[in-house]
Amino acid sequence: MFDMSVIEGLCKRRGFVFRSSEIYGGFNGFFDFGPLGVELKNNIKSAWWKDFVHRREDIVGLDASIIMHPDIWKASGHVAGFSDPMVDCKESKMRFRADQLYFAKVSVEGEVIGYVSVLEDADMQAQAEKKALDLKRHLAKQGQLDKIELFDYTHARPDEYALIPSPATGKPGSLTPPRDFNLMFQTYVGALRDETAVAYLRPETAQGIFADYKNILDTSRVKLPFGIAQIGKAFRNEITPRNFIFRSREFEQMEIEYFISPYEDWKSLHRKWIDDCKKWFVSIGLPADSLSEDVHPQEKLAHYAKACTDITFKFPHGLQELQGIAVRGNFDLTQHQNASGKNLEYFDEERKEKYLPHVIEPSLGVDRTFLAVLTAAYCEDEVPSEKGTPEKRTLLKFSPRVAPYKAAVFPLVKNKPEIVEKARAVYEKLQRRWNVFYDASGAIGRRYRRQDEIGTPFGITIDFDTVEKDGSVTLRDRDTTKQERVSVDELVSYLSEKIDV
Ligand code: ATP
Repeated sequence: MFDMSVIEGLCKRRGFVFRSSEIYGGFNGFFDFGPLGVELKNNIKSAWWKDFVHRREDIVGLDASIIMHPDIWKASGHVAGFSDPMVDCKESKMRFRADQLYFAKVSVEGEVIGYVSVLEDADMQAQAEKKALDLKRHLAKQGQLDKIELFDYTHARPDEYALIPSPATGKPGSLTPPRDFNLMFQTYVGALRDETAVAYLRPETAQGIFADYKNILDTSRVKLPFGIAQIGKAFRNEITPRNFIFRSREFEQMEIEYFISPYEDWKSLHRKWIDDCKKWFVSIGLPADSLSEDVHPQEKLAHYAKACTDITFKFPHGLQELQGIAVRGNFDLTQHQNASGKNLEYFDEERKEKYLPHVIEPSLGVDRTFLAVLTAAYCEDEVPSEKGTPEKRTLLKFSPRVAPYKAAVFPLVKNKPEIVEKARAVYEKLQRRWNVFYDASGAIGRRYRRQDEIGTPFGITIDFDTVEKDGSVTLRDRDTTKQERVSVDELVSYLSEKIDV
Protein backbone atom coordinates (compact mmCIF):
# COMPACT_ATOMS: atom_id res chain seq x y z
CA MET A 1 0.00 0.00 0.00
CA PHE A 2 1.28 3.45 -0.90
CA ASP A 3 1.00 6.32 1.56
CA MET A 4 -1.30 9.27 1.60
CA SER A 5 1.37 11.60 0.17
CA VAL A 6 1.15 9.67 -3.13
CA ILE A 7 -2.58 10.39 -3.41
CA GLU A 8 -2.13 13.95 -2.21
CA GLY A 9 0.64 14.56 -4.75
CA LEU A 10 -1.40 13.14 -7.59
CA CYS A 11 -4.45 15.19 -6.58
CA LYS A 12 -2.39 18.38 -6.64
CA ARG A 13 -0.54 17.57 -9.87
CA ARG A 14 -3.61 16.61 -11.84
CA GLY A 15 -5.99 19.20 -10.46
CA PHE A 16 -8.23 16.98 -8.34
CA VAL A 17 -7.79 18.66 -4.94
CA PHE A 18 -5.92 21.77 -3.77
CA ARG A 19 -5.40 23.05 -0.25
CA SER A 20 -7.86 25.89 0.32
CA SER A 21 -6.37 29.40 0.18
CA GLU A 22 -3.04 27.96 -0.90
CA ILE A 23 -1.59 31.28 -2.07
CA TYR A 24 -2.05 32.49 1.51
CA GLY A 25 -0.29 29.47 2.96
CA GLY A 26 -3.38 27.24 3.10
CA PHE A 27 -6.13 26.98 5.72
CA ASN A 28 -5.99 23.84 7.82
CA GLY A 29 -8.93 21.49 7.35
CA PHE A 30 -10.31 23.10 4.18
CA PHE A 31 -9.89 21.97 0.59
CA ASP A 32 -10.83 23.01 -2.93
CA PHE A 33 -11.82 20.58 -5.64
CA GLY A 34 -10.19 21.42 -8.98
CA PRO A 35 -11.45 20.73 -12.51
CA LEU A 36 -11.10 16.93 -12.30
CA GLY A 37 -12.03 16.75 -8.61
CA VAL A 38 -15.33 18.53 -9.05
CA GLU A 39 -16.27 16.10 -11.85
CA LEU A 40 -15.36 13.04 -9.78
CA LYS A 41 -17.23 14.40 -6.76
CA ASN A 42 -20.33 15.27 -8.79
CA ASN A 43 -20.30 11.81 -10.37
CA ILE A 44 -20.10 10.14 -6.95
CA LYS A 45 -23.00 12.24 -5.71
CA SER A 46 -25.14 11.61 -8.76
CA ALA A 47 -24.46 7.85 -8.71
CA TRP A 48 -25.60 7.84 -5.07
CA TRP A 49 -28.69 9.93 -5.79
CA LYS A 50 -29.57 7.74 -8.76
CA ASP A 51 -29.28 4.51 -6.78
CA PHE A 52 -30.78 5.59 -3.48
CA VAL A 53 -33.41 8.09 -4.64
CA HIS A 54 -34.34 7.73 -8.34
CA ARG A 55 -34.09 3.97 -8.49
CA ARG A 56 -36.09 3.38 -5.32
CA GLU A 57 -39.78 3.90 -4.82
CA ASP A 58 -39.46 4.31 -1.06
CA ILE A 59 -36.99 7.23 -0.84
CA VAL A 60 -37.49 10.92 -1.62
CA GLY A 61 -34.97 13.76 -1.67
CA LEU A 62 -34.48 16.99 0.29
CA ASP A 63 -32.19 20.01 0.25
CA ALA A 64 -32.52 21.78 3.61
CA SER A 65 -30.74 25.00 4.61
CA ILE A 66 -27.31 24.85 6.21
CA ILE A 67 -28.14 27.33 8.97
CA MET A 68 -31.29 26.29 10.81
CA HIS A 69 -33.12 27.42 13.92
CA PRO A 70 -30.64 27.08 16.81
CA ASP A 71 -33.25 25.21 18.86
CA ILE A 72 -32.84 22.28 16.47
CA TRP A 73 -29.31 21.77 17.75
CA LYS A 74 -30.44 22.09 21.37
CA ALA A 75 -33.14 19.45 20.84
CA SER A 76 -30.82 17.10 18.97
CA GLY A 77 -28.27 17.23 21.78
CA HIS A 78 -25.54 18.84 19.70
CA VAL A 79 -25.27 22.07 21.73
CA ALA A 80 -24.73 20.13 24.93
CA GLY A 81 -22.86 17.12 23.68
CA PHE A 82 -21.41 17.31 20.18
CA SER A 83 -17.87 17.43 21.38
CA ASP A 84 -14.57 15.63 21.20
CA PRO A 85 -12.15 15.33 24.13
CA MET A 86 -9.31 17.78 23.61
CA VAL A 87 -5.90 17.93 25.22
CA ASP A 88 -3.43 20.81 25.01
CA CYS A 89 0.33 20.73 25.17
CA LYS A 90 1.17 23.83 27.23
CA GLU A 91 4.70 23.96 25.93
CA SER A 92 4.28 23.56 22.16
CA LYS A 93 0.73 25.05 22.13
CA MET A 94 -0.33 22.06 20.02
CA ARG A 95 -3.78 20.52 20.42
CA PHE A 96 -4.69 16.88 20.13
CA ARG A 97 -7.83 14.81 20.25
CA ALA A 98 -7.46 12.87 23.48
CA ASP A 99 -8.97 9.75 21.92
CA GLN A 100 -6.34 9.88 19.16
CA LEU A 101 -3.40 10.35 21.52
CA TYR A 102 -2.20 6.97 22.79
CA PHE A 103 0.07 6.29 25.73
CA ALA A 104 1.68 3.27 27.32
CA LYS A 105 3.39 2.57 30.60
CA VAL A 106 6.93 1.33 29.99
CA SER A 107 8.23 -1.29 32.37
CA VAL A 108 11.28 -3.51 32.51
CA GLU A 109 10.65 -6.86 34.18
CA GLY A 110 7.85 -5.36 36.25
CA GLU A 111 9.58 -2.09 37.19
CA VAL A 112 7.88 1.02 35.68
CA ILE A 113 10.50 3.26 34.08
CA GLY A 114 8.26 5.88 32.42
CA TYR A 115 5.66 6.50 29.73
CA VAL A 116 5.62 6.89 25.95
CA SER A 117 3.00 8.51 23.72
CA VAL A 118 2.13 8.33 20.03
CA LEU A 119 -0.58 9.74 17.79
CA GLU A 120 -3.12 7.34 16.30
CA ASP A 121 -1.62 5.75 13.22
CA ALA A 122 -1.61 2.42 11.39
CA ASP A 123 1.82 1.56 12.86
CA MET A 124 1.52 3.27 16.26
CA GLN A 125 2.26 0.01 18.12
CA ALA A 126 5.67 -0.25 16.41
CA GLN A 127 6.34 3.45 17.03
CA ALA A 128 5.53 3.06 20.74
CA GLU A 129 7.76 -0.01 21.04
CA LYS A 130 10.65 1.87 19.46
CA LYS A 131 10.15 4.80 21.84
CA ALA A 132 10.05 2.41 24.80
CA LEU A 133 13.33 0.87 23.70
CA ASP A 134 14.88 4.35 23.34
CA LEU A 135 13.70 5.22 26.85
CA LYS A 136 15.19 2.01 28.27
CA ARG A 137 18.53 2.75 26.53
CA HIS A 138 18.47 6.37 27.67
CA LEU A 139 17.96 5.27 31.29
CA ALA A 140 20.58 2.49 30.83
CA LYS A 141 18.18 -0.13 32.23
CA GLN A 142 19.10 -3.80 31.98
CA GLY A 143 16.54 -6.55 31.36
CA GLN A 144 13.57 -7.34 29.15
CA LEU A 145 10.98 -4.72 28.25
CA ASP A 146 7.48 -5.82 29.23
CA LYS A 147 4.70 -5.85 26.65
CA ILE A 148 3.67 -2.36 25.50
CA GLU A 149 -0.07 -1.85 25.85
CA LEU A 150 -1.50 1.30 24.31
CA PHE A 151 -4.53 3.16 25.70
CA ASP A 152 -5.99 6.41 24.51
CA TYR A 153 -5.54 9.49 26.71
CA THR A 154 -9.18 9.52 27.83
CA HIS A 155 -8.25 6.39 29.82
CA ALA A 156 -5.35 8.07 31.63
CA ARG A 157 -5.75 8.47 35.39
CA PRO A 158 -5.40 12.03 36.76
CA ASP A 159 -2.12 11.07 38.45
CA GLU A 160 -0.77 9.96 35.05
CA TYR A 161 -1.37 13.26 33.16
CA ALA A 162 1.92 14.74 34.35
CA LEU A 163 3.85 11.58 33.52
CA ILE A 164 2.77 11.10 29.91
CA PRO A 165 5.08 12.81 27.41
CA SER A 166 3.60 15.25 24.90
CA PRO A 167 3.82 13.87 21.35
CA ALA A 168 4.99 17.36 20.33
CA THR A 169 7.98 17.67 22.66
CA GLY A 170 8.60 14.09 23.77
CA LYS A 171 8.74 15.36 27.37
CA PRO A 172 6.22 14.79 30.20
CA GLY A 173 4.58 17.53 32.25
CA SER A 174 2.98 19.71 29.60
CA LEU A 175 -0.27 17.86 28.72
CA THR A 176 -3.52 19.14 30.22
CA PRO A 177 -6.33 16.85 31.35
CA PRO A 178 -8.81 16.12 28.51
CA ARG A 179 -11.77 18.46 28.26
CA ASP A 180 -14.80 18.62 26.00
CA PHE A 181 -14.56 20.81 22.93
CA ASN A 182 -17.79 21.48 21.01
CA LEU A 183 -17.24 20.94 17.30
CA MET A 184 -20.00 23.20 16.00
CA PHE A 185 -19.05 26.40 14.19
CA GLN A 186 -20.98 29.35 15.56
CA THR A 187 -22.14 32.41 13.71
CA TYR A 188 -24.61 35.27 14.27
CA VAL A 189 -27.78 35.79 12.31
CA GLY A 190 -29.04 39.36 11.89
CA ALA A 191 -27.53 42.66 12.94
CA LEU A 192 -27.09 41.91 16.64
CA ARG A 193 -24.01 40.10 17.88
CA ASP A 194 -25.28 38.78 21.18
CA GLU A 195 -26.34 35.44 22.63
CA THR A 196 -29.83 35.74 21.12
CA ALA A 197 -28.38 35.86 17.61
CA VAL A 198 -26.14 32.78 17.87
CA ALA A 199 -26.69 30.16 15.17
CA TYR A 200 -24.68 27.18 13.96
CA LEU A 201 -23.37 25.83 10.70
CA ARG A 202 -24.88 22.35 10.59
CA PRO A 203 -22.46 19.62 11.73
CA GLU A 204 -24.53 16.97 9.92
CA THR A 205 -27.27 16.99 7.31
CA ALA A 206 -29.46 14.54 9.22
CA GLN A 207 -31.20 17.06 11.50
CA GLY A 208 -32.54 18.95 8.47
CA ILE A 209 -34.31 15.73 7.52
CA PHE A 210 -35.94 15.37 10.93
CA ALA A 211 -36.96 19.02 10.91
CA ASP A 212 -38.72 18.57 7.54
CA TYR A 213 -40.05 15.07 8.17
CA LYS A 214 -43.58 16.35 8.90
CA ASN A 215 -43.65 18.56 5.79
CA ILE A 216 -42.67 15.61 3.65
CA LEU A 217 -45.17 13.31 5.35
CA ASP A 218 -47.94 15.82 4.65
CA THR A 219 -47.02 16.54 1.04
CA SER A 220 -45.55 13.40 -0.52
CA ARG A 221 -47.89 10.41 -0.09
CA VAL A 222 -45.06 8.48 1.56
CA LYS A 223 -45.94 5.41 3.65
CA LEU A 224 -43.75 3.56 6.14
CA PRO A 225 -41.16 2.32 5.57
CA PHE A 226 -39.80 5.28 3.63
CA GLY A 227 -36.61 7.28 3.52
CA ILE A 228 -35.57 10.90 3.06
CA ALA A 229 -32.19 11.46 1.45
CA GLN A 230 -30.05 14.56 1.45
CA ILE A 231 -26.65 15.54 0.09
CA GLY A 232 -25.04 18.68 1.43
CA LYS A 233 -22.25 20.47 3.23
CA ALA A 234 -21.54 19.88 6.89
CA PHE A 235 -19.06 21.70 9.12
CA ARG A 236 -17.12 20.51 12.15
CA ASN A 237 -14.43 22.43 13.92
CA GLU A 238 -12.28 19.29 14.13
CA ILE A 239 -9.49 19.59 16.71
CA THR A 240 -6.94 17.91 14.48
CA PRO A 241 -8.04 17.75 10.86
CA ARG A 242 -5.69 15.28 9.19
CA ASN A 243 -5.10 12.57 6.67
CA PHE A 244 -5.81 14.86 3.73
CA ILE A 245 -9.56 15.06 3.02
CA PHE A 246 -10.38 12.14 5.36
CA ARG A 247 -11.05 14.49 8.26
CA SER A 248 -11.70 18.08 7.29
CA ARG A 249 -13.59 20.97 8.78
CA GLU A 250 -15.89 21.52 5.81
CA PHE A 251 -17.12 18.42 4.03
CA GLU A 252 -20.16 16.95 2.37
CA GLN A 253 -22.45 14.21 3.54
CA MET A 254 -24.91 11.90 1.83
CA GLU A 255 -27.39 10.86 4.48
CA ILE A 256 -30.66 8.97 4.64
CA GLU A 257 -33.14 8.73 7.44
CA TYR A 258 -35.09 5.57 6.76
CA PHE A 259 -38.29 5.70 8.81
CA ILE A 260 -39.75 2.40 9.93
CA SER A 261 -42.59 1.23 12.11
CA PRO A 262 -41.61 0.42 15.72
CA TYR A 263 -43.11 -3.03 15.05
CA GLU A 264 -40.78 -3.64 12.10
CA ASP A 265 -38.03 -6.26 12.20
CA TRP A 266 -35.27 -3.63 12.40
CA LYS A 267 -32.46 -6.18 12.59
CA SER A 268 -33.07 -7.59 9.12
CA LEU A 269 -33.66 -4.10 7.67
CA HIS A 270 -30.39 -2.92 9.22
CA ARG A 271 -28.60 -5.90 7.68
CA LYS A 272 -30.16 -5.10 4.29
CA TRP A 273 -28.96 -1.50 4.50
CA ILE A 274 -25.42 -2.61 5.26
CA ASP A 275 -25.49 -5.02 2.29
CA ASP A 276 -27.03 -2.45 -0.07
CA CYS A 277 -24.45 0.18 0.89
CA LYS A 278 -21.57 -2.25 0.38
CA LYS A 279 -22.96 -3.21 -3.03
CA TRP A 280 -23.14 0.46 -3.93
CA PHE A 281 -19.49 0.97 -3.02
CA VAL A 282 -18.57 -1.92 -5.29
CA SER A 283 -20.65 -0.36 -8.10
CA ILE A 284 -18.47 2.77 -7.98
CA GLY A 285 -15.23 0.83 -8.06
CA LEU A 286 -14.26 -0.13 -4.49
CA PRO A 287 -13.12 -3.77 -4.40
CA ALA A 288 -15.38 -5.87 -2.14
CA ASP A 289 -12.35 -7.12 -0.21
CA SER A 290 -11.30 -3.57 0.73
CA LEU A 291 -14.53 -3.11 2.72
CA SER A 292 -15.29 -4.52 6.13
CA GLU A 293 -17.71 -4.04 8.99
CA ASP A 294 -17.08 -2.65 12.43
CA VAL A 295 -19.97 -3.50 14.74
CA HIS A 296 -20.17 -1.09 17.70
CA PRO A 297 -20.39 -3.01 20.96
CA GLN A 298 -23.62 -2.49 22.86
CA GLU A 299 -21.92 -0.69 25.75
CA LYS A 300 -20.46 1.98 23.43
CA LEU A 301 -23.80 2.87 21.83
CA ALA A 302 -25.70 6.05 22.69
CA HIS A 303 -28.45 5.25 25.20
CA TYR A 304 -31.20 5.53 22.56
CA ALA A 305 -29.38 3.58 19.80
CA LYS A 306 -30.16 -0.06 19.14
CA ALA A 307 -27.21 -0.86 16.88
CA CYS A 308 -24.53 0.76 14.77
CA THR A 309 -22.24 -0.77 12.17
CA ASP A 310 -19.55 1.16 10.37
CA ILE A 311 -18.49 0.15 6.90
CA THR A 312 -14.72 0.55 6.93
CA PHE A 313 -12.28 0.86 4.06
CA LYS A 314 -8.55 0.26 3.78
CA PHE A 315 -7.38 3.88 3.44
CA PRO A 316 -3.66 4.61 3.00
CA HIS A 317 -3.53 5.46 6.74
CA GLY A 318 -5.30 2.24 7.81
CA LEU A 319 -8.71 0.63 8.11
CA GLN A 320 -11.08 3.50 8.91
CA GLU A 321 -14.76 4.44 8.94
CA LEU A 322 -16.22 5.25 5.56
CA GLN A 323 -19.90 5.10 6.49
CA GLY A 324 -21.89 4.70 9.68
CA ILE A 325 -25.23 2.84 9.62
CA ALA A 326 -27.06 3.37 12.90
CA VAL A 327 -30.42 2.26 14.24
CA ARG A 328 -31.50 5.26 16.29
CA GLY A 329 -34.95 4.33 17.59
CA ASN A 330 -37.28 7.35 17.68
CA PHE A 331 -34.92 9.54 19.72
CA ASP A 332 -34.63 12.41 17.22
CA LEU A 333 -38.33 12.71 16.41
CA THR A 334 -39.18 12.51 20.11
CA GLN A 335 -36.73 15.31 20.90
CA HIS A 336 -38.06 17.54 18.10
CA GLN A 337 -41.68 16.81 18.99
CA ASN A 338 -41.04 17.79 22.59
CA ALA A 339 -38.96 20.87 21.81
CA SER A 340 -41.14 22.24 18.99
CA GLY A 341 -44.47 21.34 20.56
CA LYS A 342 -45.64 20.02 17.15
CA ASN A 343 -47.13 16.57 16.84
CA LEU A 344 -44.83 14.51 14.62
CA GLU A 345 -46.70 11.22 14.89
CA TYR A 346 -47.44 8.98 11.96
CA PHE A 347 -50.87 7.42 11.57
CA ASP A 348 -50.57 3.72 10.77
CA GLU A 349 -53.71 2.97 8.77
CA GLU A 350 -53.42 -0.79 9.07
CA ARG A 351 -52.99 -0.81 12.82
CA LYS A 352 -55.20 2.25 13.33
CA GLU A 353 -52.54 3.60 15.62
CA LYS A 354 -50.41 6.71 15.96
CA TYR A 355 -46.72 6.54 16.81
CA LEU A 356 -43.34 8.13 16.19
CA PRO A 357 -41.47 6.07 13.59
CA HIS A 358 -38.02 4.67 14.33
CA VAL A 359 -35.08 5.28 12.00
CA ILE A 360 -32.17 3.56 10.36
CA GLU A 361 -29.54 6.14 9.44
CA PRO A 362 -26.95 5.39 6.73
CA SER A 363 -24.56 8.33 6.96
CA LEU A 364 -21.76 8.74 4.46
CA GLY A 365 -19.13 11.38 3.72
CA VAL A 366 -18.72 12.43 0.08
CA ASP A 367 -15.08 13.42 0.64
CA ARG A 368 -14.23 10.10 2.32
CA THR A 369 -15.88 8.26 -0.58
CA PHE A 370 -13.84 10.40 -2.97
CA LEU A 371 -10.65 9.45 -1.12
CA ALA A 372 -11.62 5.76 -1.11
CA VAL A 373 -12.38 5.84 -4.85
CA LEU A 374 -9.00 7.45 -5.57
CA THR A 375 -7.18 5.01 -3.30
CA ALA A 376 -8.82 2.01 -4.96
CA ALA A 377 -8.22 3.38 -8.46
CA TYR A 378 -4.54 4.28 -8.13
CA CYS A 379 -2.10 1.81 -9.61
CA GLU A 380 1.13 1.50 -11.53
CA ASP A 381 1.85 -1.08 -14.20
CA GLU A 382 3.96 -1.65 -17.30
CA VAL A 383 2.71 -1.48 -20.86
CA PRO A 384 4.59 -1.68 -24.16
CA SER A 385 5.60 1.74 -25.51
CA GLU A 386 5.11 2.68 -29.16
CA LYS A 387 8.53 1.18 -29.83
CA GLY A 388 7.47 -2.04 -28.13
CA THR A 389 9.70 -1.66 -25.06
CA PRO A 390 8.07 -1.95 -21.62
CA GLU A 391 7.15 1.39 -20.12
CA LYS A 392 5.98 2.22 -16.59
CA ARG A 393 2.64 3.96 -16.35
CA THR A 394 0.54 5.39 -13.57
CA LEU A 395 -3.15 4.99 -13.99
CA LEU A 396 -6.40 5.58 -12.20
CA LYS A 397 -8.72 2.66 -12.75
CA PHE A 398 -11.89 4.60 -12.07
CA SER A 399 -15.14 2.82 -12.71
CA PRO A 400 -16.67 4.43 -15.83
CA ARG A 401 -19.62 5.44 -13.60
CA VAL A 402 -17.54 7.98 -11.69
CA ALA A 403 -14.60 8.76 -14.01
CA PRO A 404 -14.25 12.55 -14.52
CA TYR A 405 -13.99 12.11 -18.30
CA LYS A 406 -15.82 9.16 -19.78
CA ALA A 407 -13.85 9.12 -23.02
CA ALA A 408 -11.19 11.06 -24.90
CA VAL A 409 -11.35 11.64 -28.65
CA PHE A 410 -8.14 11.82 -30.66
CA PRO A 411 -7.63 12.62 -34.34
CA LEU A 412 -4.67 10.42 -35.28
CA VAL A 413 -3.02 13.35 -37.06
CA LYS A 414 -3.89 17.01 -36.92
CA ASN A 415 -2.92 18.01 -40.45
CA LYS A 416 -5.63 16.04 -42.29
CA PRO A 417 -8.81 18.14 -42.31
CA GLU A 418 -11.12 15.12 -42.95
CA ILE A 419 -9.75 13.34 -39.89
CA VAL A 420 -9.94 16.42 -37.69
CA GLU A 421 -13.46 17.21 -38.88
CA LYS A 422 -14.65 13.67 -38.18
CA ALA A 423 -12.95 13.69 -34.77
CA ARG A 424 -14.66 16.97 -33.85
CA ALA A 425 -18.01 15.55 -35.00
CA VAL A 426 -17.57 12.42 -32.84
CA TYR A 427 -16.45 14.58 -29.91
CA GLU A 428 -19.45 16.89 -30.17
CA LYS A 429 -21.85 13.97 -30.45
CA LEU A 430 -20.48 12.32 -27.30
CA GLN A 431 -20.27 15.63 -25.48
CA ARG A 432 -24.04 15.98 -25.58
CA ARG A 433 -24.29 13.00 -23.22
CA TRP A 434 -21.09 12.87 -21.23
CA ASN A 435 -18.05 14.81 -20.18
CA VAL A 436 -15.48 13.92 -22.86
CA PHE A 437 -12.04 15.25 -23.68
CA TYR A 438 -10.60 16.25 -27.04
CA ASP A 439 -6.85 16.05 -27.55
CA ALA A 440 -5.08 16.57 -30.86
CA SER A 441 -1.55 17.24 -29.71
CA GLY A 442 1.42 14.91 -29.32
CA ALA A 443 2.14 11.31 -30.26
CA ILE A 444 -0.90 9.07 -29.82
CA GLY A 445 0.87 6.97 -27.18
CA ARG A 446 1.52 10.07 -25.07
CA ARG A 447 -2.08 11.15 -25.43
CA TYR A 448 -3.26 7.74 -24.20
CA ARG A 449 -0.88 7.95 -21.25
CA ARG A 450 -2.15 11.37 -20.22
CA GLN A 451 -5.70 10.03 -20.12
CA ASP A 452 -4.60 6.90 -18.20
CA GLU A 453 -3.22 9.14 -15.47
CA ILE A 454 -6.53 10.93 -15.00
CA GLY A 455 -8.58 7.76 -15.28
CA THR A 456 -10.42 8.22 -18.60
CA PRO A 457 -11.73 4.72 -19.33
CA PHE A 458 -12.00 4.92 -23.13
CA GLY A 459 -9.79 6.39 -25.85
CA ILE A 460 -11.36 6.89 -29.28
CA THR A 461 -9.03 7.43 -32.22
CA ILE A 462 -10.18 8.66 -35.58
CA ASP A 463 -7.71 7.50 -38.23
CA PHE A 464 -7.39 7.06 -41.99
CA ASP A 465 -9.66 4.01 -42.03
CA THR A 466 -12.41 6.01 -40.34
CA VAL A 467 -12.59 8.54 -43.15
CA GLU A 468 -11.46 6.43 -46.09
CA LYS A 469 -13.06 3.05 -45.39
CA ASP A 470 -15.77 1.91 -43.03
CA GLY A 471 -16.39 4.82 -40.68
CA SER A 472 -15.22 2.80 -37.68
CA VAL A 473 -13.02 4.18 -34.93
CA THR A 474 -10.41 2.60 -32.67
CA LEU A 475 -11.68 2.17 -29.14
CA ARG A 476 -8.94 1.64 -26.57
CA ASP A 477 -9.60 0.24 -23.13
CA ARG A 478 -7.60 2.07 -20.42
CA ASP A 479 -6.94 -0.94 -18.19
CA THR A 480 -6.09 -3.65 -20.72
CA THR A 481 -4.86 -1.20 -23.43
CA LYS A 482 -6.68 -3.54 -25.88
CA GLN A 483 -8.03 -1.89 -28.99
CA GLU A 484 -11.04 -2.78 -31.09
CA ARG A 485 -12.87 -1.24 -34.03
CA VAL A 486 -16.35 0.08 -33.36
CA SER A 487 -18.57 1.82 -35.89
CA VAL A 488 -19.35 5.45 -35.14
CA ASP A 489 -23.07 4.67 -35.21
CA GLU A 490 -22.71 2.09 -32.45
CA LEU A 491 -20.31 4.13 -30.34
CA VAL A 492 -22.92 5.83 -28.13
CA SER A 493 -24.83 2.65 -27.30
CA TYR A 494 -21.57 0.73 -26.79
CA LEU A 495 -20.26 3.33 -24.32
CA SER A 496 -23.61 3.80 -22.65
CA GLU A 497 -23.70 0.14 -21.64
CA LYS A 498 -20.44 0.59 -19.75
CA ILE A 499 -20.96 4.08 -18.35
CA ASP A 500 -24.64 4.40 -17.47
CA VAL A 501 -24.92 1.32 -15.29
P1 ATP B 1 -15.35 10.11 13.15
O1 ATP B 1 -15.50 9.10 14.27
O2 ATP B 1 -14.42 9.66 12.06
O3 ATP B 1 -15.13 11.52 13.62
P2 ATP B 1 -18.14 10.19 13.16
O4 ATP B 1 -18.47 8.82 13.63
O5 ATP B 1 -18.22 11.36 14.06
O6 ATP B 1 -16.74 10.15 12.42
P3 ATP B 1 -20.53 10.62 11.80
O7 ATP B 1 -20.98 11.71 12.66
O8 ATP B 1 -21.15 9.28 11.90
O9 ATP B 1 -18.96 10.48 11.89
O10 ATP B 1 -20.59 11.15 10.30
C1 ATP B 1 -21.02 10.34 9.24
C2 ATP B 1 -20.02 10.30 8.12
O11 ATP B 1 -19.62 11.62 7.75
C3 ATP B 1 -18.73 9.58 8.47
O12 ATP B 1 -18.86 8.19 8.28
C4 ATP B 1 -17.77 10.18 7.47
O13 ATP B 1 -17.87 9.54 6.21
C5 ATP B 1 -18.26 11.61 7.34
N1 ATP B 1 -17.48 12.53 8.17
C6 ATP B 1 -17.65 12.78 9.48
N2 ATP B 1 -16.77 13.69 9.91
C7 ATP B 1 -16.01 14.04 8.85
C8 ATP B 1 -14.93 14.95 8.64
N3 ATP B 1 -14.48 15.72 9.63
N4 ATP B 1 -14.39 15.05 7.41
C9 ATP B 1 -14.86 14.29 6.39
N5 ATP B 1 -15.88 13.42 6.52
C10 ATP B 1 -16.46 13.29 7.72
